[in-house]
Amino acid sequence: MQKTIGLIGGMSWESSAEYYRIINQETLRRLGGVHSARSLMVSADFDEIKQLQHAGEWDKLAELMQGAARQLERGGADFIVLCTNTMHRLADAITSAVAIPLLHIADPTAEKIKASGIRRVGLLGTAFTMEQDFYKGRLQSRHGLDVIVPDADDRKTVHDVIYKELVLGQVNPASREAYRAIIARLIAEGAEGIILGCTEIMLLVSEEDSAVPLFDTTTIHAVAAVDHALSA
Ligand code: GLU
Repeated sequence: MQKTIGLIGGMSWESSAEYYRIINQETLRRLGGVHSARSLMVSADFDEIKQLQHAGEWDKLAELMQGAARQLERGGADFIVLCTNTMHRLADAITSAVAIPLLHIADPTAEKIKASGIRRVGLLGTAFTMEQDFYKGRLQSRHGLDVIVPDADDRKTVHDVIYKELVLGQVNPASREAYRAIIARLIAEGAEGIILGCTEIMLLVSEEDSAVPLFDTTTIHAVAAVDHALSA
């Protein structure tokens, strides 16, 4: 029997909708018939999340994420999928609040990168993800990857496009061009692959925007959730 996937979503709902679609499409692809995934989602109000992130109120954010995880556990979820890279800063706080496991977004992403023989990888995401250690550190110390990020100006562009456009579902050709140029600069610095380390970037950028392989964390994480839900 399928395990029940517990999704913490709403960060933003634009990417949570992609998780829901991919999880169900992948379940159907594997099981056939009219199968779909067993899942629960607790969806946050992203305005509140965004304000707290930018004010550095990570303790309050931890309480919100722990509350969501407990709701999922009480609802019968077998494991947790946190549908945002940034909020994995609070992965330990979440796992300490519940008995069910968290499927960390960086782990299946790193496995996929290593399986394609890539060691040096460029990371695009929010400033929190690109600049703090919780994400890069895990890729480096647990998985032995060499992670590079854009320079300060480019990081600001990547971050602003996420919070001002992509979380609102706005896909602007000019922003895609800016991302293409940033990806090209990472490749010039030796990136052999690029992590789309924010769950909305896949709305904007696709393989044709990059001369090296892209690792879309939304798809990788959602498919890993199906792997886990269907495992014995
Ligand atoms: N979805 C984004 C991510 O993957 C950003 C939104 C958030 O701050 O959670 O990091």
